[in-house]
This record gives sequence, structure tokens and C-alpha cells, in this order.
Amino acid sequence: MVDNPKGILYLVATPIGNLADVTFRAVEVLQGVSLIACEDTRHSRPLLDRYDIDKPLTALHEHNEDAASAKLLEKLKQGESIALISDAGTPLINDPGFPLVRQAVAHGVRVVPVPGACALVAALSASGLSTNRFAFEGFPPRTSSARCTMLEKVVDEARTLIFYESSHRVLDFVRDIAAVFPSHRSIVIARELTKLHETILSCTVDEAVTRIEDDPFMEKGEFVVLLEGASQKSKTELTGEQIRVLKLLLEECSVKTASTLAAKITGSRKELLYQAALRLADKTG
Ligand code: SAM
Repeated sequence: MVDNPKGILYLVATPIGNLADVTFRAVEVLQGVSLIACEDTRHSRPLLDRYDIDKPLTALHEHNEDAASAKLLEKLKQGESIALISDAGTPLINDPGFPLVRQAVAHGVRVVPVPGACALVAALSASGLSTNRFAFEGFPPRTSSARCTMLEKVVDEARTLIFYESSHRVLDFVRDIAAVFPSHRSIVIARELTKLHETILSCTVDEAVTRIEDDPFMEKGEFVVLLEGASQKSKTELTGEQIRVLKLLLEECSVKTASTLAAKITGSRKELLYQAALRLADKTG
């Protein structure tokens, strides 16, 4: 008796904006499977139509993931080959699919990646920041206090940091970065990658808020935010918030008193604040 071979689960990357960014292999695989699982069938239809892919679609999204994955696993075990795609980019990268892949692996179903676009990799490769080691942090928390707590935990991370962010929160996120991160750390804001209004803004943390506020388009679209990793030098830099406090105190007090008070208020080292206060007093004096 011949065992019924199991099907294959293909994880197919699709474009992150520019529909031409689909691979030949992705099209072949999507044309060859018996079923395509996608987040939103309406969203995926234009891409599939463009490449003459006429296959049954089934929805797999965050609200039905467990039940839909169980059904798909049964089909795979019965020998059907299925492709998983998401609305954009690589499935499972901040997109549905993890329960299905975990189950498939656990049941000995072959899982085949069909690589392609991924916003974090596209942004990192063009950022000018170190690409040797990086940490992808996904979407930051939604409230400012939770975001600042998260940022405080990663401020001394030496690897390049990568975040996804939505247009509604990008300015608030960058404001929190300016409060927590040293002001001279490099930040890159990659917007609308591969699309008509692609913008890759590269500046220091202390310039970033103004750069976004000054450009109405910088609050529209999809964003990847990248931060330079910490170096030995950055441990001796002050954050935007520390400099703000110091500047306010310098309006009223001497360099010595301002730096002493700023050290008490912000918890930063007095010598660092004193040196910064001297520089600030020099600029304004
Ligand atoms: N699976 C996708 C991938 O491989 O990149 C990510 C999906 S996640 C739900 C969507 C987020 O990815 C967006 O909110 C944005 O932060 C980022 N993103 C997706 N497409 C982008 C693009 N064209 N330009 C910049 N960021 C993008």
C-alpha cells in the first residue's frame, strides 16, 4: 500500500506596494496549488488577476486563524498543496500564519518558503545603517507611556533597531524616540517603499520630529522606522528630554546650578550635563 503523500504548504511573499515586485517562482507556485489562503480575498484579487492566477481563495486572518488553520492542516494532510499569502510582503512577518506553520511542522507537512518582498529588509538594505546585526521589534505599543518603557529597554541595544509603524502614530512614536534616545543617534524613516511616493528620510533623532512636522506627506502611508544601534560613544550622549530640561534650567540659572538640577531631575550624569550646559551657554551667550 502506498502512503498518501502529504501536500506542501508554500509561504509565498507578495509585493509591498509595487505589483511588479512578484517573483516568477511566486506566480508559478500560485498557479500550481489547489488553494490559496489569504488575509483578505478582496485585497489579493488585483495581484492574482494581474498574473492570471485563477484559484480558489480562502480567508486566513487574525480573527479566524485557529479554526482556519485546523481546516487547512486537514487538507494538507490529505495531499492538497496550499499557498499562504498575506496582504503584503512575507507571510508571518507581522502577518497571520504562525499557528498554521507550527502545526504543519509538527505534523510533518513540508513547508516551503517562496521568498520575496519584506518591508523591514527593503528598508534596512537602503537605510545606510549597519546591516550586520539588527533587531526587528515589530509594531511599538500604542500608548506613549508603554512606548517609552519599551524604548528605554532597547536604548543601549548595539544592533540596528527596526520597527513597523502606522501613519496615525508615526509622529508620536518619533516624539517618544526623541525623548528617550540620545539626540545625535541616526534615525531612518522609510515611507511607502516601492510605491510612487517612496521616501527614505535619514537624519538625527533630534531633527526627526521637525522633519516630519514640516512635511505633510510624512504622516501618510506605511512606515518602517530604523534606529542606529548604540555605540560606546552613545552611552555618553544625552537624550532630547534631558537637553530640553537643561535648556529650560539654563534660562533661569547658572551653568553649574542648571547641570546640578538637571542631573537630579533626569537621573543623568552631572559631568555630562555640565559639559552640555557649557556648550549650550556658549551657543546662546
Ligand atoms: N508582511 C509584511 C512584510 O513582509 O513586510 C508586513 C506586514 S505588517 C501588517 C504592515 C506594516 O509593514 C506596515 O504598517 C508598515 O509598517 C510596513 N510596510 C508594509 N509595506 C510597506 C511599504 N511599502 N513601505 C513602508 N512600510 C511598509
